[in-house]
Amino acid sequence: MECIFCKIIAGEIPSDTIYKDEEFIAFRDIQPQAPVHVLIVPVNHIVSVNDLGEKDASMIGRLILLAKRIAEQEHIAESGYRLVINCGSEGGQVVPHLHLHLMGGIRLNDRMG
Ligand code: AMP
Repeated sequence: MECIFCKIIAGEIPSDTIYKDEEFIAFRDIQPQAPVHVLIVPVNHIVSVNDLGEKDASMIGRLILLAKRIAEQEHIAESGYRLVINCGSEGGQVVPHLHLHLMGGIRLNDRMG
């Protein structure tokens, strides 16, 4: 297994995990870009948005709803937050395992890249 997020899911490398169920894991980003920076990751190894199909529509819905719940737990729901999924090299995706960034706790600037 080469994928770093699969290794985190398997418990082979440490992470600051704040949520886990059979479908998703959420852990704090190792290089946070905001006071709250959590990665929410499907347990199944899906490389990117490009690999999603109709069968994944409900999973993606649950991913967003989980992000909303974690934002509440992290006390940034009221102040606001940003959800980002990078896709591919020009989209800024570095880890080839689909993940949603939840960032907040500071006023984020408008620049996207
Ligand atoms: P992306 O650029 O969208 O692929 O985001 C990958 C994110 O994973 C980056 O924000 C990294 O800081 C983060 N990251 C890489 N390795 C780890 C790790 N071992 N634990 C937590 N976050 C990580």
